[in-house]
Amino acid sequence: MVSLVTNSPEYMCLWRQQHPQYKEKQREYLRIWRQKHPEHEVKHRRRQRLFRARHPNYYQEYRQNHPEVFRESSRRWYQSNKERRNKLAVIRNLAQRKVKLDVNCEICDSTENLERHHPDYSKPLVVQTLCKPCHNRLDKGVD
Ligand SMILES: [Zn+2]
Repeated sequence: MVSLVTNSPEYMCLWRQQHPQYKEKQREYLRIWRQKHPEHEVKHRRRQRLFRARHPNYYQEYRQNHPEVFRESSRRWYQSNKERRNKLAVIRNLAQRKVKLDVNCEICDSTENLERHHPDYSKPLVVQTLCKPCHNRLDKGVD
């Protein structure tokens, strides 16, 4: 039996493994803590940004050193998105040939950077005319 110092990361790790019932509690506690400390999220983001700026290749290197972690999931992601991408490309192409754009954006009346928006890709010829900023906002689900 290895004696471990209480509060050391190793000890905590072991303790957590032996007490899985506290996992839920801990998650709940963390959630509440985050709600009480919204500034932490901002700090965390800033630190993350800094870290990425200082170690621009960290993620890339991690990927290279642990290819097995990514191989399977990226293959699956690529496969499922390839089909989707192809389908969407065909629909966009069809709409470009068949549907004319209006002269202004349906949301803000702008007449610049107009694009076709598909509210429903199962209806390729139902197209809204939107300007680029409105289209981006809509796709992100922001009103
Ligand atoms: Zn617009």
